[in-house]
Amino acid sequence: MSTLELGRIIVVGASMGGLRAAEQLRSAGWKGELVVIGEEPHKPYNRPPLTKEILARPGTLEESLQSTALRQRASVSDAQWRLSERVIVSDLRARTVTVDSGEHLEYDGLVIATGIRPRRLQAPGPTKGRYVVRTLEESRALHEELSSEKRVLVVGAGFIGCEVASTARQLGCVVQLVEGSRGPMHRVLGHEVSEAMRNWLAGQGIEMVNGSYVEEFLTGSSPDDHASHARAAGVRLADEQELAADIVVEAVGSVPNTEWLENNGLDLTDGVVVDSRMRVEGAPRVVAVGDVARFPDPWSGGELRRIEHWQTAIDTAKTAAKSLVASLGGTEEPAPFSAMPSFWSDQFGVRIQGVGAPHRATSIEVLEGSLEDPASGVAISYQREGETIAVVNVGLPAGRLVQYRDMLTKITSPA
Ligand SMILES: Cc1cc2nc3c(=O)[nH]c(=O)nc-3n(C[C@H](O)[C@H](O)[C@H](O)COP(=O)(O)OP(=O)(O)OC[C@H]3O[C@@H](n4cnc5c(N)ncnc54)[C@H](O)[C@@H]3O)c2cc1C
Repeated sequence: MSTLELGRIIVVGASMGGLRAAEQLRSAGWKGELVVIGEEPHKPYNRPPLTKEILARPGTLEESLQSTALRQRASVSDAQWRLSERVIVSDLRARTVTVDSGEHLEYDGLVIATGIRPRRLQAPGPTKGRYVVRTLEESRALHEELSSEKRVLVVGAGFIGCEVASTARQLGCVVQLVEGSRGPMHRVLGHEVSEAMRNWLAGQGIEMVNGSYVEEFLTGSSPDDHASHARAAGVRLADEQELAADIVVEAVGSVPNTEWLENNGLDLTDGVVVDSRMRVEGAPRVVAVGDVARFPDPWSGGELRRIEHWQTAIDTAKTAAKSLVASLGGTEEPAPFSAMPSFWSDQFGVRIQGVGAPHRATSIEVLEGSLEDPASGVAISYQREGETIAVVNVGLPAGRLVQYRDMLTKITSPA
């Protein structure tokens, strides 16, 4: 029998990317052992609702888990799920990983699917009363705090920050959103659309704060505030503005989970660098998927980038699984990765959807609707060097994006 039947593939990271990679390994012909190791105690669940429905809704952790659990194909029912276990070290030359109990596990192939964690603000001050949202537990813990009239300060106005702000406001909280030196969702949507969204968010009752770095977390003066119980009661920004709050949510970007891959000679600058087939450079029989993978994105002129979008975890898993099975004796080498990036976000019941690489555009054109009133439905195309490289829709039915997506594919589909 061949390695395809007798070997072992280890998937590190038991979330969207890890699950989809395991399923795609089976589809690509892998019949051997599949071991999925994940540090969270749960089987894979969906993260997008954590800042939306799950954050808004009362209910137990168990109920939230049930409603977010990702459906699994029968083909991975025989996979060995090692949950609540963390890989702490790897030796890619010896083909082993070591989990936190000290156990070494050998593999024939390895999938890196360890994703990212929220970046934390390094400013001094109390750590209590400060929240991030990446896991189900974190979303539930924040929900418990979000009651009417509570003052919620969200630091960071990317998609996560804007979604938390929107949900908190809808629950009746008094919300301030610190947007940094550029506007909300600026990194993805660009200046003009970010400006339009800023005005719209403000119109929904969110106080936009044009501040920059947090210098210090302020301590409240309630009777509970002896050292061990002190809670953050706001922040002082670099420009000396002081903002009071009952809770602070940090939404200031992410850090790839790659520490366990150190000392293997890999390029771990902002994720794991892979080639166009998701193979880790410098490590045979190792692939990476999802938020942690930094790959040459043909929609961005081949620029190496990580894409923290749900659909990218699915798309990269397909290519990575085929590559890995091919390197272990399978026959089907995948085509270079070329999936069009796509994303969505929901804020105040309005859907924002996009395809392509809007961050590279040099100009935009409004295709329908008006940026003055984005929630009533607006479609924006993004141009660079005479080509349409992205489309973003706000408040329009999903089908409309499909129509624009086709237009985009014809113009910029990579070779
Ligand atoms: C709150 C939230 C809302 C989102 N909303 C949207 C949205 O609206 N639209 C959209 O397109 N995308 C959204 N996303 C992004 C989308 O959820 C991610 O792109 C997707 O989860 C990436 O999956 P992943 O498996 O690569 O990484 P992750 O989901 O981060 O999973 C990585 C897993 O690996 C585990 N792990 C890490 N290190 C180790 C280790 N050493 N050993 C073992 N296990 C380890 C982690 O605990 C985690 O379970 C959202 C993300 C979040 C957090």
